[in-house]
Amino acid sequence: MERTLSLIKPDGVSRNLIGEVIRFFEKAGLKVVALKMLRLTKEEAKQFYIVHKERPFYDSLTDYMSSGPIVAMVLEGENAIARCREIMGATDPAEAAEGTIRKTFGLDKEKNTVHGSDSPESAAREIAFFFSELDLI
Ligand code: ATP
Ligand code: MG
Repeated sequence: MERTLSLIKPDGVSRNLIGEVIRFFEKAGLKVVALKMLRLTKEEAKQFYIVHKERPFYDSLTDYMSSGPIVAMVLEGENAIARCREIMGATDPAEAAEGTIRKTFGLDKEKNTVHGSDSPESAAREIAFFFSELDLI
């Protein structure tokens, strides 16, 4: 079964949306197989988003992602990577489809409530970034 890494970003945790976000994934049939709350340092956020290091929003994004607690979870299911991204909706909440997490809760292009891995390679890297083998069911 496929696995993906999802984050509830600081805007989601600070607005008490942890349960609501998990509900979106669970009602779509994705299973939570690992879960933790933590706060990234600026350095850790830079490492996590290293693929974006040349982008103009990198500094602001990594400031934001280290600004408060986040929830990291591993979701499992058929096509979990693509389905998680479908449930999240487009990066910019203004462009996200009705009924998606970002359309429902996202604040702007940066503070868009959730993250989901975008490929099997990034899922493997991102799951290992937050969890050890022992944490995974
Ligand atoms: P994520 O990787 O967080 O799941 P994504 O794959 O939809 O989101 P990416 O292009 O990977 O989008 O961008 C990573 C994150 O960087 C976005 O989720 C958002 O928080 C931020 N971001 C992306 N584009 C912009 C932008 N133009 N301005 C500000 N922040 C942005
Ligand atoms: Mg991405």
